[in-house]
Amino acid sequence: MFKKLITPIQLWLLSRGQCVGCGMPLAKANSVKHSESTNKITCSCGRIFIYDTQKRSYRRALFSEI
Ligand SMILES: [Zn+2]
Repeated sequence: MFKKLITPIQLWLLSRGQCVGCGMPLAKANSVKHSESTNKITCSCGRIFIYDTQKRSYRRALFSEI
């Protein structure tokens, strides 16, 4: 259930900085520092993303990062 394939629509949403689940702008979501160049973003719907502050891009968090 957790491990869904990422669809092109989800990639498109992520590229726009929006949650793949609820569409909320991730800039408004809760953000904590995760490593040197990444932030961990927790959306209000519970999905977790990693924001790369150097590439300025979002991706889904891996199991090991949660
Ligand atoms: Zn969401």
